[in-house]
Amino acid sequence: MTQDQWCKLKQDLLKSVGKSNFTSWIEPLELSHTEEGVATFSVPTSFVGNYVSQKYGDQILYHVQALMPDIRRVHFQVPTNQASRPAAPRSAVAAAPAPAAPRDPMMPTAPLDKRFSFDNFVVGKPNELAHAAAKRVASGGPVMFNPLFLYGGVGLGKTHLMHAIAWELSQRQPDLNVVYLSAEQFMYRFVQALRDRKMMDFKSMFRAVDVLMVDDVQFIAGKESTQEEFFHTFNALVDGRRQIIISADRAPGEIENLEERIKSRLQCGLVVDLHPTNYELRLGILQSKVEYYRTQYPGLALADGVLEFLALRITKNVRVLEGALTRLFAFASLVGHEITLELTQDCLADVLRSSERQVTIEEIQRQVSEHFNIRLSDLIGPKRVRIYARPRQVAMYLAKQMTSRSLPEIGRRFGGRDHTTVMHGVRRIDELRVTDTQIAEDLELLRRTLEA
Ligand code: ADP
Ligand code: MG
Repeated sequence: MTQDQWCKLKQDLLKSVGKSNFTSWIEPLELSHTEEGVATFSVPTSFVGNYVSQKYGDQILYHVQALMPDIRRVHFQVPTNQASRPAAPRSAVAAAPAPAAPRDPMMPTAPLDKRFSFDNFVVGKPNELAHAAAKRVASGGPVMFNPLFLYGGVGLGKTHLMHAIAWELSQRQPDLNVVYLSAEQFMYRFVQALRDRKMMDFKSMFRAVDVLMVDDVQFIAGKESTQEEFFHTFNALVDGRRQIIISADRAPGEIENLEERIKSRLQCGLVVDLHPTNYELRLGILQSKVEYYRTQYPGLALADGVLEFLALRITKNVRVLEGALTRLFAFASLVGHEITLELTQDCLADVLRSSERQVTIEEIQRQVSEHFNIRLSDLIGPKRVRIYARPRQVAMYLAKQMTSRSLPEIGRRFGGRDHTTVMHGVRRIDELRVTDTQIAEDLELLRRTLEA
Protein backbone atom coordinates (compact mmCIF):
# COMPACT_ATOMS: atom_id res chain seq x y z
CA MET A 1 0.00 0.00 0.00
CA THR A 2 1.32 3.44 -0.85
CA GLN A 3 1.10 6.46 1.44
CA ASP A 4 -1.37 7.94 -1.03
CA GLN A 5 -3.63 4.95 -0.73
CA TRP A 6 -3.38 5.13 3.03
CA CYS A 7 -4.38 8.80 2.95
CA LYS A 8 -7.39 7.99 0.87
CA LEU A 9 -8.29 5.09 3.10
CA LYS A 10 -8.09 7.39 6.10
CA GLN A 11 -10.75 9.55 4.50
CA ASP A 12 -13.03 6.52 4.29
CA LEU A 13 -12.37 5.80 7.94
CA LEU A 14 -13.18 9.40 8.81
CA LYS A 15 -16.65 8.78 7.43
CA SER A 16 -17.18 5.59 9.33
CA VAL A 17 -15.78 6.55 12.74
CA GLY A 18 -16.78 10.21 12.93
CA LYS A 19 -14.68 13.32 13.32
CA SER A 20 -13.70 13.18 16.96
CA ASN A 21 -12.80 9.50 17.00
CA PHE A 22 -10.87 10.06 13.83
CA THR A 23 -8.80 12.89 15.24
CA SER A 24 -8.05 10.98 18.40
CA TRP A 25 -7.32 7.55 17.06
CA ILE A 26 -6.97 7.25 13.32
CA GLU A 27 -5.20 10.48 12.46
CA PRO A 28 -2.09 9.61 14.54
CA LEU A 29 -1.61 6.27 12.78
CA GLU A 30 1.21 6.12 10.28
CA LEU A 31 1.60 3.41 7.74
CA SER A 32 4.91 1.75 8.47
CA HIS A 33 5.08 -1.18 6.05
CA THR A 34 3.20 -4.15 4.64
CA GLU A 35 4.83 -7.54 4.63
CA GLU A 36 3.70 -11.14 4.40
CA GLY A 37 0.03 -10.37 4.72
CA VAL A 38 0.46 -7.98 7.64
CA ALA A 39 0.01 -4.22 7.44
CA THR A 40 1.94 -2.51 10.20
CA PHE A 41 1.10 0.95 11.49
CA SER A 42 3.08 2.98 13.93
CA VAL A 43 1.35 4.45 16.95
CA PRO A 44 2.56 6.98 19.52
CA THR A 45 2.05 4.71 22.56
CA SER A 46 1.28 1.07 23.15
CA PHE A 47 -1.88 2.14 24.90
CA VAL A 48 -3.11 3.84 21.75
CA GLY A 49 -2.04 0.76 19.82
CA ASN A 50 -4.06 -1.58 22.01
CA TYR A 51 -7.04 0.66 21.95
CA VAL A 52 -7.07 1.17 18.21
CA SER A 53 -6.54 -2.51 17.64
CA GLN A 54 -9.43 -3.44 19.89
CA LYS A 55 -11.85 -0.78 18.77
CA TYR A 56 -10.99 -0.14 15.13
CA GLY A 57 -8.85 -3.11 14.11
CA ASP A 58 -11.70 -4.78 12.25
CA GLN A 59 -12.75 -1.69 10.39
CA ILE A 60 -9.23 -0.81 9.37
CA LEU A 61 -8.60 -4.37 8.21
CA TYR A 62 -11.81 -4.31 6.23
CA HIS A 63 -10.82 -1.14 4.39
CA VAL A 64 -7.26 -2.28 3.85
CA GLN A 65 -8.48 -5.56 2.40
CA ALA A 66 -10.60 -3.71 -0.11
CA LEU A 67 -7.36 -2.35 -1.56
CA MET A 68 -5.06 -5.25 -0.81
CA PRO A 69 -6.92 -8.52 -0.55
CA ASP A 70 -3.72 -10.30 0.54
CA ILE A 71 -3.58 -8.54 3.86
CA ARG A 72 -4.87 -10.80 6.62
CA ARG A 73 -3.90 -8.85 9.66
CA VAL A 74 -3.24 -5.31 10.83
CA HIS A 75 -0.64 -4.62 13.44
CA PHE A 76 -0.02 -1.53 15.56
CA GLN A 77 3.43 -0.88 16.83
CA VAL A 78 5.32 1.76 18.74
CA PRO A 79 8.41 2.62 16.65
CA THR A 80 11.48 1.01 18.23
CA ASN A 81 13.23 4.23 19.20
CA GLN A 82 10.23 5.04 21.38
CA ALA A 83 9.59 1.52 22.57
CA SER A 84 13.04 1.34 24.10
CA ARG A 85 12.14 4.12 26.47
CA PRO A 86 11.35 2.54 29.82
CA ALA A 87 7.65 2.43 30.52
CA ALA A 88 6.26 4.35 33.42
CA PRO A 89 6.69 2.24 36.56
CA ARG A 90 3.60 0.21 37.39
CA SER A 91 3.49 1.62 40.89
CA ALA A 92 2.74 5.00 39.39
CA VAL A 93 -0.64 3.71 38.29
CA ALA A 94 -1.71 2.19 41.54
CA ALA A 95 -3.38 4.43 44.06
CA ALA A 96 -1.01 6.26 46.30
CA PRO A 97 -2.29 8.09 49.35
CA ALA A 98 -2.41 11.51 47.78
CA PRO A 99 -1.15 14.37 49.89
CA ALA A 100 -3.61 17.22 50.19
CA ALA A 101 -2.57 19.26 47.20
CA PRO A 102 -3.00 22.97 46.73
CA ARG A 103 -5.49 23.94 44.07
CA ASP A 104 -3.88 23.69 40.69
CA PRO A 105 -4.56 26.79 38.61
CA MET A 106 -3.44 24.84 35.56
CA MET A 107 -6.24 22.33 35.94
CA PRO A 108 -7.67 22.33 32.47
CA THR A 109 -11.40 22.07 32.43
CA ALA A 110 -13.20 21.67 29.17
CA PRO A 111 -14.79 24.87 27.88
CA LEU A 112 -18.40 25.36 28.88
CA ASP A 113 -21.08 26.27 26.40
CA LYS A 114 -22.77 29.53 27.41
CA ARG A 115 -26.09 28.49 25.93
CA PHE A 116 -26.26 25.42 28.15
CA SER A 117 -27.76 27.17 31.15
CA PHE A 118 -30.72 26.32 33.35
CA ASP A 119 -32.54 29.28 31.87
CA ASN A 120 -32.38 27.70 28.46
CA PHE A 121 -33.40 24.27 29.60
CA VAL A 122 -37.04 23.44 29.00
CA VAL A 123 -38.51 21.19 31.64
CA GLY A 124 -41.16 18.61 30.87
CA LYS A 125 -42.33 15.30 32.21
CA PRO A 126 -39.49 13.28 30.60
CA ASN A 127 -36.71 15.30 32.23
CA GLU A 128 -38.20 16.84 35.35
CA LEU A 129 -36.48 14.52 37.79
CA ALA A 130 -33.08 14.94 36.19
CA HIS A 131 -33.61 18.68 36.13
CA ALA A 132 -34.62 18.79 39.80
CA ALA A 133 -31.60 16.73 40.83
CA ALA A 134 -29.29 18.94 38.78
CA LYS A 135 -30.79 22.06 40.34
CA ARG A 136 -30.28 20.67 43.80
CA VAL A 137 -26.63 19.89 43.16
CA ALA A 138 -26.14 23.30 41.57
CA SER A 139 -27.40 25.01 44.70
CA GLY A 140 -24.09 24.02 46.25
CA GLY A 141 -25.39 22.96 49.65
CA PRO A 142 -23.95 20.01 51.56
CA VAL A 143 -23.42 16.97 49.38
CA MET A 144 -26.61 14.96 49.52
CA PHE A 145 -26.10 12.30 46.94
CA ASN A 146 -22.80 11.24 45.56
CA PRO A 147 -22.45 10.73 42.71
CA LEU A 148 -25.33 12.22 40.82
CA PHE A 149 -25.60 9.90 37.88
CA LEU A 150 -27.53 11.20 34.86
CA TYR A 151 -28.24 8.89 32.02
CA GLY A 152 -30.26 8.82 28.83
CA GLY A 153 -30.08 8.54 25.06
CA VAL A 154 -28.19 10.80 22.70
CA GLY A 155 -29.28 14.43 22.53
CA LEU A 156 -31.61 14.39 25.50
CA GLY A 157 -29.81 17.09 27.45
CA LYS A 158 -27.21 15.38 29.67
CA THR A 159 -24.37 17.63 28.61
CA HIS A 160 -26.64 20.66 28.76
CA LEU A 161 -27.56 19.91 32.38
CA MET A 162 -23.97 19.31 33.41
CA HIS A 163 -22.83 22.60 31.94
CA ALA A 164 -25.76 24.32 33.61
CA ILE A 165 -24.66 22.94 36.98
CA ALA A 166 -21.11 24.09 36.35
CA TRP A 167 -22.26 27.60 35.39
CA GLU A 168 -24.50 28.01 38.34
CA LEU A 169 -21.98 26.68 40.84
CA SER A 170 -19.19 28.86 39.58
CA GLN A 171 -21.48 31.86 39.73
CA ARG A 172 -22.56 31.17 43.28
CA GLN A 173 -19.11 30.22 44.52
CA PRO A 174 -16.39 31.61 42.26
CA ASP A 175 -13.65 30.02 44.35
CA LEU A 176 -14.99 26.55 43.91
CA ASN A 177 -12.77 24.32 41.84
CA VAL A 178 -15.30 22.89 39.39
CA VAL A 179 -13.97 20.59 36.74
CA TYR A 180 -16.02 19.39 33.81
CA LEU A 181 -14.61 17.00 31.26
CA SER A 182 -15.61 14.08 29.11
CA ALA A 183 -14.50 10.59 30.04
CA GLU A 184 -12.48 10.65 26.85
CA GLN A 185 -10.59 13.71 28.02
CA PHE A 186 -10.06 12.10 31.40
CA MET A 187 -8.43 9.22 29.60
CA TYR A 188 -6.21 11.45 27.47
CA ARG A 189 -4.94 13.28 30.49
CA PHE A 190 -4.28 10.00 32.18
CA VAL A 191 -2.44 8.56 29.18
CA GLN A 192 -0.49 11.76 28.80
CA ALA A 193 0.48 11.73 32.45
CA LEU A 194 1.64 8.14 32.12
CA ARG A 195 3.66 8.97 29.06
CA ASP A 196 5.26 12.08 30.54
CA ARG A 197 5.66 10.30 33.88
CA LYS A 198 3.61 12.88 35.67
CA MET A 199 1.26 10.55 37.47
CA MET A 200 1.74 12.21 40.83
CA ASP A 201 0.79 15.55 39.34
CA PHE A 202 -2.20 13.98 37.68
CA LYS A 203 -3.38 12.45 40.91
CA SER A 204 -2.94 15.52 43.02
CA MET A 205 -4.59 17.66 40.39
CA PHE A 206 -7.73 15.57 40.42
CA ARG A 207 -7.73 15.10 44.17
CA ALA A 208 -7.85 18.88 44.58
CA VAL A 209 -11.12 19.24 42.75
CA ASP A 210 -14.24 20.36 44.63
CA VAL A 211 -16.78 19.28 42.05
CA LEU A 212 -15.89 16.78 39.37
CA MET A 213 -18.11 16.20 36.36
CA VAL A 214 -17.34 13.42 33.94
CA ASP A 215 -19.49 13.29 30.84
CA ASP A 216 -20.18 10.14 28.81
CA VAL A 217 -18.55 7.77 31.24
CA GLN A 218 -19.52 4.75 29.11
CA PHE A 219 -16.46 5.68 27.10
CA ILE A 220 -14.12 4.08 29.63
CA ALA A 221 -15.82 0.68 29.32
CA GLY A 222 -13.23 -1.90 28.40
CA LYS A 223 -10.31 0.41 29.17
CA GLU A 224 -8.83 -1.18 32.22
CA SER A 225 -6.13 1.13 33.40
CA THR A 226 -8.29 4.21 32.85
CA GLN A 227 -11.03 2.56 34.87
CA GLU A 228 -8.59 1.79 37.62
CA GLU A 229 -7.46 5.38 37.80
CA PHE A 230 -11.01 6.67 37.57
CA PHE A 231 -11.99 4.41 40.44
CA HIS A 232 -9.25 5.78 42.68
CA THR A 233 -10.00 9.38 41.78
CA PHE A 234 -13.66 8.73 42.42
CA ASN A 235 -13.07 7.18 45.82
CA ALA A 236 -10.68 9.86 46.93
CA LEU A 237 -13.20 12.56 46.08
CA VAL A 238 -16.16 10.80 47.66
CA ASP A 239 -14.14 10.23 50.83
CA GLY A 240 -13.34 13.93 50.84
CA ARG A 241 -17.07 14.68 50.51
CA ARG A 242 -16.64 16.42 47.17
CA GLN A 243 -19.48 16.31 44.70
CA ILE A 244 -19.22 14.07 41.67
CA ILE A 245 -21.57 14.22 38.70
CA ILE A 246 -21.47 11.58 36.04
CA SER A 247 -23.36 11.10 32.81
CA ALA A 248 -23.70 8.08 30.56
CA ASP A 249 -25.86 6.87 27.73
CA ARG A 250 -27.26 4.06 29.88
CA ALA A 251 -27.72 2.98 33.49
CA PRO A 252 -24.59 2.02 35.44
CA GLY A 253 -25.58 -1.64 35.57
CA GLU A 254 -26.00 -1.78 31.83
CA ILE A 255 -22.58 -0.52 30.83
CA GLU A 256 -20.75 -3.54 29.56
CA ASN A 257 -17.09 -4.08 30.32
CA LEU A 258 -17.21 -1.81 33.28
CA GLU A 259 -15.75 -3.24 36.48
CA GLU A 260 -18.33 -4.38 38.99
CA ARG A 261 -16.87 -2.32 41.79
CA ILE A 262 -17.21 0.80 39.66
CA LYS A 263 -20.78 -0.04 38.73
CA SER A 264 -21.75 -0.46 42.34
CA ARG A 265 -19.98 2.75 43.29
CA LEU A 266 -21.85 4.62 40.58
CA GLN A 267 -25.13 3.27 41.86
CA CYS A 268 -24.48 4.49 45.39
CA GLY A 269 -25.66 8.01 44.83
CA LEU A 270 -28.71 9.20 42.97
CA VAL A 271 -29.32 7.66 39.58
CA VAL A 272 -31.80 9.53 37.39
CA ASP A 273 -32.63 9.11 33.76
CA LEU A 274 -33.72 11.45 31.02
CA HIS A 275 -36.59 9.81 29.19
CA PRO A 276 -37.11 10.15 25.47
CA THR A 277 -38.87 13.41 24.69
CA ASN A 278 -42.62 13.57 24.29
CA TYR A 279 -44.62 15.83 22.03
CA GLU A 280 -45.24 18.53 24.64
CA LEU A 281 -41.58 18.79 25.56
CA ARG A 282 -40.51 18.98 21.93
CA LEU A 283 -43.02 21.71 21.27
CA GLY A 284 -41.87 23.59 24.37
CA ILE A 285 -38.26 23.39 23.26
CA LEU A 286 -39.15 24.60 19.78
CA GLN A 287 -41.10 27.53 21.18
CA SER A 288 -38.26 28.58 23.40
CA LYS A 289 -35.79 28.37 20.50
CA VAL A 290 -38.10 30.42 18.31
CA GLU A 291 -38.06 33.18 20.88
CA TYR A 292 -34.33 33.21 20.60
CA TYR A 293 -34.36 33.20 16.79
CA ARG A 294 -36.82 36.08 16.76
CA THR A 295 -34.09 38.24 18.28
CA GLN A 296 -31.74 37.17 15.51
CA TYR A 297 -34.11 37.35 12.58
CA PRO A 298 -36.58 40.06 13.53
CA GLY A 299 -39.55 40.30 11.27
CA LEU A 300 -39.49 36.68 10.19
CA ALA A 301 -42.99 35.28 10.17
CA LEU A 302 -43.87 31.77 11.18
CA ALA A 303 -47.09 30.21 9.96
CA ASP A 304 -49.42 28.44 12.36
CA GLY A 305 -48.88 24.75 12.70
CA VAL A 306 -45.22 24.65 11.67
CA LEU A 307 -43.88 24.03 15.15
CA GLU A 308 -46.57 21.44 15.85
CA PHE A 309 -45.66 19.71 12.63
CA LEU A 310 -41.97 19.60 13.55
CA ALA A 311 -42.67 18.39 17.09
CA LEU A 312 -44.78 15.62 15.68
CA ARG A 313 -42.44 14.53 12.95
CA ILE A 314 -38.95 14.91 14.38
CA THR A 315 -38.97 12.63 17.36
CA LYS A 316 -35.44 11.40 17.34
CA ASN A 317 -33.65 13.77 19.66
CA VAL A 318 -33.40 17.39 20.63
CA ARG A 319 -30.21 17.97 18.72
CA VAL A 320 -31.85 17.01 15.45
CA LEU A 321 -34.86 19.12 16.30
CA GLU A 322 -32.68 22.14 16.95
CA GLY A 323 -30.69 21.62 13.79
CA ALA A 324 -33.88 21.51 11.76
CA LEU A 325 -35.10 24.77 13.20
CA THR A 326 -31.78 26.51 12.67
CA ARG A 327 -31.75 25.47 9.06
CA LEU A 328 -35.32 26.57 8.57
CA PHE A 329 -34.74 30.05 9.95
CA ALA A 330 -31.49 30.53 8.10
CA PHE A 331 -33.11 29.47 4.85
CA ALA A 332 -36.22 31.57 5.33
CA SER A 333 -34.22 34.66 6.20
CA LEU A 334 -32.14 34.16 3.10
CA VAL A 335 -35.09 34.03 0.75
CA GLY A 336 -37.11 36.46 2.84
CA HIS A 337 -40.25 34.37 2.96
CA GLU A 338 -42.67 33.52 5.66
CA ILE A 339 -42.00 30.06 7.11
CA THR A 340 -44.92 28.06 5.86
CA LEU A 341 -45.62 24.37 6.09
CA GLU A 342 -44.66 23.92 2.44
CA LEU A 343 -41.37 25.71 2.91
CA THR A 344 -40.71 23.55 5.96
CA GLN A 345 -41.37 20.34 4.10
CA ASP A 346 -39.16 21.43 1.22
CA CYS A 347 -36.31 22.75 3.25
CA LEU A 348 -36.23 19.81 5.65
CA ALA A 349 -37.10 16.99 3.29
CA ASP A 350 -33.97 15.02 4.13
CA VAL A 351 -34.33 15.43 7.90
CA LEU A 352 -37.97 14.43 7.75
CA ARG A 353 -37.18 11.40 5.67
CA SER A 354 -34.35 10.29 7.90
CA SER A 355 -36.41 10.61 11.03
CA GLU A 356 -38.55 7.88 9.60
CA ARG A 357 -35.80 5.82 11.14
CA GLN A 358 -33.45 4.45 8.53
CA VAL A 359 -31.28 1.59 9.63
CA THR A 360 -28.02 1.23 7.72
CA ILE A 361 -26.37 -1.98 6.61
CA GLU A 362 -23.31 -1.03 8.65
CA GLU A 363 -25.41 -0.77 11.81
CA ILE A 364 -26.94 -4.14 11.12
CA GLN A 365 -23.55 -5.71 10.56
CA ARG A 366 -22.20 -4.20 13.72
CA GLN A 367 -25.13 -5.30 15.85
CA VAL A 368 -25.17 -8.80 14.42
CA SER A 369 -21.47 -9.39 14.92
CA GLU A 370 -21.78 -8.11 18.47
CA HIS A 371 -24.80 -10.27 19.12
CA PHE A 372 -23.10 -13.45 17.91
CA ASN A 373 -19.82 -12.42 19.37
CA ILE A 374 -17.80 -12.65 16.17
CA ARG A 375 -15.56 -10.14 14.49
CA LEU A 376 -16.98 -7.78 11.91
CA SER A 377 -14.29 -8.87 9.47
CA ASP A 378 -15.43 -12.49 9.85
CA LEU A 379 -19.03 -11.55 9.34
CA ILE A 380 -18.21 -9.82 6.09
CA GLY A 381 -15.22 -11.94 5.11
CA PRO A 382 -14.98 -15.09 3.00
CA LYS A 383 -15.05 -17.82 5.66
CA ARG A 384 -17.87 -20.26 5.17
CA VAL A 385 -17.98 -22.16 8.44
CA ARG A 386 -21.36 -22.16 10.09
CA ILE A 387 -20.35 -19.96 13.06
CA TYR A 388 -19.80 -17.12 10.60
CA ALA A 389 -22.14 -18.11 7.80
CA ARG A 390 -25.29 -18.22 9.92
CA PRO A 391 -24.83 -14.77 11.49
CA ARG A 392 -23.97 -13.50 8.02
CA GLN A 393 -27.27 -14.81 6.69
CA VAL A 394 -29.09 -13.25 9.62
CA ALA A 395 -27.45 -9.92 8.83
CA MET A 396 -28.38 -10.23 5.15
CA TYR A 397 -31.94 -11.06 6.09
CA LEU A 398 -32.20 -8.02 8.34
CA ALA A 399 -30.60 -5.83 5.68
CA LYS A 400 -33.25 -6.96 3.23
CA GLN A 401 -36.07 -6.46 5.71
CA MET A 402 -35.03 -3.24 7.35
CA THR A 403 -33.39 -1.22 4.58
CA SER A 404 -34.45 -0.34 1.09
CA ARG A 405 -31.24 -1.72 -0.42
CA SER A 406 -31.39 -4.09 -3.35
CA LEU A 407 -29.96 -7.61 -3.25
CA PRO A 408 -26.90 -6.73 -5.40
CA GLU A 409 -26.26 -3.71 -3.20
CA ILE A 410 -26.44 -5.87 -0.08
CA GLY A 411 -24.14 -8.42 -1.71
CA ARG A 412 -21.58 -5.70 -2.37
CA ARG A 413 -21.61 -4.63 1.26
CA PHE A 414 -21.00 -8.20 2.34
CA GLY A 415 -17.55 -8.51 0.86
CA GLY A 416 -18.68 -8.34 -2.77
CA ARG A 417 -20.97 -11.36 -2.80
CA ASP A 418 -23.34 -12.18 -5.60
CA HIS A 419 -27.02 -11.26 -5.30
CA THR A 420 -28.00 -14.93 -5.54
CA THR A 421 -25.96 -15.64 -2.41
CA VAL A 422 -27.88 -12.94 -0.61
CA MET A 423 -31.18 -14.29 -1.88
CA HIS A 424 -30.27 -17.78 -0.72
CA GLY A 425 -29.33 -16.45 2.73
CA VAL A 426 -32.53 -14.46 3.08
CA ARG A 427 -34.65 -17.50 2.14
CA ARG A 428 -32.74 -19.75 4.49
CA ILE A 429 -33.41 -17.47 7.45
CA ASP A 430 -37.00 -17.08 6.41
CA GLU A 431 -37.38 -20.86 6.69
CA LEU A 432 -35.42 -21.18 9.91
CA ARG A 433 -37.44 -18.42 11.51
CA VAL A 434 -40.40 -20.77 11.59
CA THR A 435 -38.67 -23.96 12.70
CA ASP A 436 -35.89 -22.69 14.93
CA THR A 437 -37.04 -20.75 17.99
CA GLN A 438 -33.51 -19.66 18.82
CA ILE A 439 -33.15 -17.93 15.45
CA ALA A 440 -36.58 -16.39 15.86
CA GLU A 441 -35.52 -14.97 19.20
CA ASP A 442 -32.23 -13.70 17.84
CA LEU A 443 -34.04 -11.92 15.04
CA GLU A 444 -36.57 -10.40 17.35
CA LEU A 445 -33.92 -9.11 19.72
CA LEU A 446 -31.78 -7.71 16.92
CA ARG A 447 -34.71 -6.02 15.31
CA ARG A 448 -35.70 -4.37 18.53
CA THR A 449 -32.17 -3.15 19.21
CA LEU A 450 -31.85 -1.79 15.70
CA GLU A 451 -35.18 -0.03 15.84
CA ALA A 452 -34.48 1.57 19.21
P1 ADP B 1 -26.69 14.71 25.38
O1 ADP B 1 -25.49 15.19 26.11
O2 ADP B 1 -27.70 14.05 26.27
O3 ADP B 1 -26.38 13.88 24.18
P2 ADP B 1 -27.06 17.53 24.88
O4 ADP B 1 -27.08 18.01 26.27
O5 ADP B 1 -25.82 17.75 24.10
O6 ADP B 1 -27.47 15.99 24.82
O7 ADP B 1 -28.33 18.16 24.12
C1 ADP B 1 -28.41 18.22 22.71
C2 ADP B 1 -28.95 19.57 22.30
O8 ADP B 1 -30.32 19.65 22.66
C3 ADP B 1 -28.27 20.71 22.97
O9 ADP B 1 -28.13 21.79 22.06
C4 ADP B 1 -29.20 21.10 24.09
O10 ADP B 1 -29.13 22.47 24.40
C5 ADP B 1 -30.54 20.73 23.53
N1 ADP B 1 -31.50 20.32 24.56
C6 ADP B 1 -31.65 19.06 25.05
N2 ADP B 1 -32.63 19.01 25.97
C7 ADP B 1 -33.09 20.28 26.07
C8 ADP B 1 -34.12 20.90 26.86
N3 ADP B 1 -34.85 20.20 27.73
N4 ADP B 1 -34.33 22.23 26.69
C9 ADP B 1 -33.60 22.93 25.80
N5 ADP B 1 -32.64 22.41 25.04
C10 ADP B 1 -32.37 21.11 25.16
MG1 MG C 1 -23.49 14.79 25.75
